[in-house]
Amino acid sequence: MVDVTSISHAMTATKAMKDILEAMVGLRDANTFQTERFKLQSLIIDAQNSIFSANEERSALLERVRDLEKTIAEFETWDTEKQRYELKTIAHVALVYAMKKDADTTEPAHWLCANCYNNRKKSFFQYFTHGPPGRLIALSQVGLNVVSSPC
Ligand SMILES: [Zn+2]
Repeated sequence: MVDVTSISHAMTATKAMKDILEAMVGLRDANTFQTERFKLQSLIIDAQNSIFSANEERSALLERVRDLEKTIAEFETWDTEKQRYELKTIAHVALVYAMKKDADTTEPAHWLCANCYNNRKKSFFQYFTHGPPGRLIALSQVGLNVVSSPC
């Protein structure tokens, strides 16, 4: 939201400057003229500060919009990507997301971590003949000894 208060202050200061300038046209007394001149300078500084403030907020808002557009694009990309996978049970003990058989891709078949998938993150399972302790999650049914969680 644009800083309406800053813009309002700038407009009020501009109106006051106009009034002072109109009053100064008719002044002949040097002291009164000088007093009005200081008031005018003060209003100009106030207006400048209000404009700078509104401009800073505008810049911050533009950056926020860019960040949100990027986040939306990432969600849209993931929504497309996730359609290529389906939830499968491997070795009767573990859930993974596997590529659908009809997925249109040249990628080799692979499995994704179900937890990461649900967090819009693509983590590949890797195959090891000897997995690290604590990371073994299932015996595979594809001739390899163990499957290690990617995360
Ligand atoms: Zn994971």
